[in-house]
Amino acid sequence: MRNFDNSKRIAIKIGTNTLSRAGAVDAAYIRSVARQVAQLIKAGREVVLITSGAIGMGAGKLGVTGTVRGIKVRQAYAAIGQPLLMTEYRKSFDKLGLTCAQVLLTAEVLNHRQTYLNLKNAIETLLKLGVVPVLNENDCVATDEIGSAFGDNDKLSALVASKLDADLLIMLSDIDALYDRNPRKYDDAKPIKAVYEITDEIIKSAGSRGSKFATGGMKSKIAAAQIAANAGCRIVLADGRVKDVITKIVAGDEIGTVFMPKRKLSNRLRWLLNSASAGTITIDDGAAAAVRKKKSLLPKGIKSVSGDFKSGDVVMLNNIAKAVTNFGSGELKLIIGKHSSEIKDVLGSGKKDVVATPENIVFLDY
Ligand code: GLU
Repeated sequence: MRNFDNSKRIAIKIGTNTLSRAGAVDAAYIRSVARQVAQLIKAGREVVLITSGAIGMGAGKLGVTGTVRGIKVRQAYAAIGQPLLMTEYRKSFDKLGLTCAQVLLTAEVLNHRQTYLNLKNAIETLLKLGVVPVLNENDCVATDEIGSAFGDNDKLSALVASKLDADLLIMLSDIDALYDRNPRKYDDAKPIKAVYEITDEIIKSAGSRGSKFATGGMKSKIAAAQIAANAGCRIVLADGRVKDVITKIVAGDEIGTVFMPKRKLSNRLRWLLNSASAGTITIDDGAAAAVRKKKSLLPKGIKSVSGDFKSGDVVMLNNIAKAVTNFGSGELKLIIGKHSSEIKDVLGSGKKDVVATPENIVFLDY
């Protein structure tokens, strides 16, 4: 039994292949999405859409059919395709008396607390105005090379759902469900209706499957489900082409796979968990055990420091946790292995006496 009656805020992610036909936006599909979204809004829910398709539609407009490789070309195609996408969303919502708004973001925007808060305020305001925010990655400026890209909209949608405290994330694509084994290899593979815990086995079995223009495969869907689950958000993975799929999912129909959330982490710890790290502090076993027991990280337990970071940045502790460091990498190198009381002798007074406090440390397997 699924029941989403109390899911007030719903994020819906639509993949490139789902919303397009032969390299162009499938206007009838977008109209059906808008109609279902309008019904949800009428019923008092808030909806945030996350759309893919900019790159694919840009390529289609130029008559390109092959795989789109090369960052510059993808950026250019995204710039062509994004307005084509938005035109269809706008026309469809207009007909229903609703306004939609384009919000383009990069991973950096979510990594920095101030820009993230700006984004959150803007989206909250749009929702209050009864407007449907339509989000996509700003593919024209975000590239992996400068570390500013989400990589795929699965991750973007999960981060957005997490940061906006959405109760439900619906991921519509040509992947209809999570299976107990690879359905492309095994005819008897069975779809899994509900996942209560994303185990290592599930992560390992989720091979990747991207397509010409879309980047997300099952692997990125599982990673996304993990992010959203940490935020206490349920996720439904479903075939976007099922008739009235959004309406049916919200009504509780057992379509696709539902991922049930773990306990909800605080907003701050979720931000920390989902932020990119600027470097790594390698700590010894004693320090690792201490921070697990919710003790502060002291300079004594540090073995080495890598990367170039400032105080207040997010860093990895070995590969087990993320922390906000009270010291920059240069300062840390000077106090490695020292007793806390020696910090002021080396760095002068006015400095913190621990490297990271427990409320600023989150374990990846918390
Ligand atoms: N942001 C990309 C686009 O709009 C899609 C990324 C993805 O496929 O997940 O084309």
